[in-house]
Amino acid sequence: MNLVDFHCHLDLYPDFEELVRESERLRIFTLAVTTTPRAWARNSALASGTKHVKAALGLHPQLVAEHWRDFDLWERLLDETRYVGEVGLDAGPRHFHSLPRQEEVFRRILRRCAEAGDKILSIHSVRSASKVLDLIQEEVAPGRAKYVFHWFTGSRSEAARAAKLGCYFSVNAAMLLSDRGRALVGSLPSDRLLTETDGPFTREGDQPARPRDVLKALQLMASVKSWSSEECAAKVLRNLRSLSGG
Ligand code: MN
Repeated sequence: MNLVDFHCHLDLYPDFEELVRESERLRIFTLAVTTTPRAWARNSALASGTKHVKAALGLHPQLVAEHWRDFDLWERLLDETRYVGEVGLDAGPRHFHSLPRQEEVFRRILRRCAEAGDKILSIHSVRSASKVLDLIQEEVAPGRAKYVFHWFTGSRSEAARAAKLGCYFSVNAAMLLSDRGRALVGSLPSDRLLTETDGPFTREGDQPARPRDVLKALQLMASVKSWSSEECAAKVLRNLRSLSGG
């Protein structure tokens, strides 16, 4: 089975380089998201020697309060990549104070992606899914970018709105441990589902999850949808192709 880990922070593991080699060896499509554009050069260099690892240019909303000035660097690097992330908004209690600044930065990111065209964004939307969708609709003309909501925790109606706008969802194992998460994933359209680990922020046993551990998300998703694991893997792969293809 070809696995897909559409959101993993490979550069936050002590064995970053080995993980890149592992994804390549196991043919796991791995999107190496970053939290700051300062991490771009190294991620891009390591991914460029592979077929299965892609680097994404990010500016994490949780870092925007202190690092919003990195937007200029993010902007200068945008031409080097098709993949953008991790970007978005975080309206949780710890980051609520920086929400105006986060909105300003995310708006500028969306605007630049709209101008450039053909970008694929991995999006963080903690307690802010509706706002994220509002900004997308305000800043990006239809068809100018594609979006993957990572670890979506919004409501079912927000998910339906996102799906209607053409968004995809990368689902991790932790999301599928609660009844609410399973019901949400069950409601998502089959042709918009991807898998992720969000490692190292999720765990597999007593270790941070690695891309190969995305198998667990795949198996849990398969059971929610009443598919076999093979069927689920084939659908996720097809979704990845339609996302990155036309
Ligand atoms: Mn993440």
